[in-house]
Amino acid sequence: VQEWERFTKDTPGSGEHNARASKSLPLGVTSSFQHWEPYPISITSARGAHLTDVDGRQLLDLSMGFGAMLVGHLNPVVVERVQHALAEVGTLFVTPSPTATRVAERYQERFGLDMLRFTQSGTESLMYAVRAARAYTERKAIIKIEGGYHGGYDALQVSVKPDLADAGPAEAPTPEVPFDVEAGTVHVVPYNDLPYLQRILEQHGRQVAAVVMEPVVENLAIVLPDEGYLAGVRAACDAAGTLLIFDEVKTGLTAGYGGASQRIGVKPDLVTLAKSIGGGLPLAAFGGTAEVMQVVVDGRMAHFGTYNGNPLVMAAAEAVDEVCTHEALQAAEDINLGTLGRIDDVIRELELPAHTVGMGLKGCVTWSSGPVRNYRDYKATDFGVAELSWLWGVNRGVLTPPGLDEQWLVSLAHTQADMDGLVEQYTELGRALRG
Ligand code: PLP
Repeated sequence: VQEWERFTKDTPGSGEHNARASKSLPLGVTSSFQHWEPYPISITSARGAHLTDVDGRQLLDLSMGFGAMLVGHLNPVVVERVQHALAEVGTLFVTPSPTATRVAERYQERFGLDMLRFTQSGTESLMYAVRAARAYTERKAIIKIEGGYHGGYDALQVSVKPDLADAGPAEAPTPEVPFDVEAGTVHVVPYNDLPYLQRILEQHGRQVAAVVMEPVVENLAIVLPDEGYLAGVRAACDAAGTLLIFDEVKTGLTAGYGGASQRIGVKPDLVTLAKSIGGGLPLAAFGGTAEVMQVVVDGRMAHFGTYNGNPLVMAAAEAVDEVCTHEALQAAEDINLGTLGRIDDVIRELELPAHTVGMGLKGCVTWSSGPVRNYRDYKATDFGVAELSWLWGVNRGVLTPPGLDEQWLVSLAHTQADMDGLVEQYTELGRALRG
């Protein structure tokens, strides 16, 4: 209660802004994920790793646009290229342009893709990846992970962080929840449970076009794959003639140079990319093997979009790709790993019921002593402390992502000193919790 009182006292401008915005925008926001109670903080500008809110407060940004701002806010190389595109190139031709081809060639190399197409959002990329899988396999059903989020596309709105009461009978810890949507049937399986997936594929495999999953689940804080799990998923898909779609909207460059699939060494048939590749501009892509992407070449599926590959966004994409060298990403990852280790020390010293989880440039504190391997484990973590931890940070000038299912990102703009602030924050919070 004290922390919420402090929050409202420190952020009157955000409260007023939300009241005004709610008259024109549902909930006063432009995406429902931007909303939290009593109101979200409204930001006026950002630079590097910092935000300024409408009350003039400076905040260390550890959300970084849900990970999209990997190169940092107003990255000078991105700004320079975008300014050049605006002043000298133009913003939309709806014709092929050399920049788009160059970016596609870079992604072929970086992400190990034979072919790809650009879109504007992760949601759109997922929709087209599922469409491509359906066109290629001539099957309709898909399998997704229980609790997993993949954007707003209808077929993937099944079992998105459901209440456990709605998720299936209590006696079945990992129930299948078939759900008929217009486009076909969606089966839901728990993450990290290979026998369960194998069973569903044995029963329904002949109807299943694709298994869709984040290789590392970054919509349930961070849930890492068990050793061998993704290779097992790959083999099970192959046995069923089902395609494997890795949703790398959140992992992508934040997992390392070639994304999580390259890092883990399991190759999907199709990948979706968004967020980190665009430097904050609306860029996403879907791509994969030449054999599967042939469905776009020969017209078995349609893919359109007025703004796809426009020169403005492509200029930003090329700059991001240049900036995200192995060395730059490794330096940020080193800072992240050091931070995770030091927070682990704090957790151990203060005997807190928590542990850290990290992947590449991302990290989180999960408020449970035991490992979190799937959605049900995640739901059993202590959300009360997680919320307090988030609020504690905001009140002290550190903004971690508002959803408790998110994680922090160490961008290329964060310094060791910035991350020292996060360690300090967890130390203070831990001491307060220990009383
Ligand atoms: N897939 C995953 C894993 C995501 O986390 C998100 C967004 O957070 C999406 C897809 C949808 O991306 P977008 O918001 O760009 O539509």
